[in-house]
Amino acid sequence: MNGYRDRVNASPILALDIGGTWTRTAIVTPEGDIASRRRTRTPATDSGDELIAFLIHEITEVRDSAPSPASAVGVSVTGPINPRTGVMYRPPNTGRGFHGLPLSERISASTGLPVVADRDTNAALVAEQRYGAGRRCFDLVYMTVSTGVGGAVMLDGRLIRGADGVAGELGHVSVNPDGPRCGCGRDGCLEAIASGPALTAAAKHLGARDGQATEPTGEQIALAAARGDELALAILERARDAIVSASVDMVNLFNPQRLILGGAVVAAHPTWVTAAQTAVRERALAPAAERALVVGAELGDDAGLLGASLMAWQDGEWR
Ligand SMILES: [Zn+2]
Repeated sequence: MNGYRDRVNASPILALDIGGTWTRTAIVTPEGDIASRRRTRTPATDSGDELIAFLIHEITEVRDSAPSPASAVGVSVTGPINPRTGVMYRPPNTGRGFHGLPLSERISASTGLPVVADRDTNAALVAEQRYGAGRRCFDLVYMTVSTGVGGAVMLDGRLIRGADGVAGELGHVSVNPDGPRCGCGRDGCLEAIASGPALTAAAKHLGARDGQATEPTGEQIALAAARGDELALAILERARDAIVSASVDMVNLFNPQRLILGGAVVAAHPTWVTAAQTAVRERALAPAAERALVVGAELGDDAGLLGASLMAWQDGEWR
């Protein structure tokens, strides 16, 4: 372990953030600066070989521009992965066939560098703890609401991992057994109620009424709500209430110093953060209710790259 740290310490990291829509690649300096950043659409493929070939191409594009040779690759990936082995699991709600793909091993074989890979939410939480909304805290819960709903939990400065490395999937907490069907097969998961696709699916009547052929975007739902449209207001209120209720649960479960809410949907509705704080104060159990500060995430799209590089430098620290 010390040998590894000596080698990667104080040298740049090749960071990869593999998202559902975009893949970001960059060099991250030991100071936490992101250089040579690059963003490319993640290929819509079910083939692990095609994904690896794409990732190696992206890495090659930025690798040569590093001020000094990168010593390791840090990977943040959407979807479940075993952080101890770097092997991917099958995502609960897509058909993408990456199950069993040895992501870390394949990237390491092509680059000749050690690879540390983890789920994007774990990477984001580590980044927020070092550079963002969780600075100087050791007990943190992170919940992100965007294309999906995901999460991560850090207690006593360590990410909780679980037996298979997949603990912290907060999006699949069911908050309403009579709620909409989730991609994981259950009813009323947070993801099925509050994610961006869940909002647009619930609002499709809105688009039909306005003469649009397609489902309304999140912005259109927000605009309709601002105009006083009752359906749009009800959809957003239901989503907000689900996130707020889950926030109280998270505080009761984990007694965090901070609960960090991130993702595009929360960024578009910052009042959800305030609503969650109020509910935590009023409804969570003492003394956790007084302790927990509910805050918005600060790092936005850079969280994955920064977290991936921190994971690579601190190999083992959050495992
Ligand atoms: Zn679910």
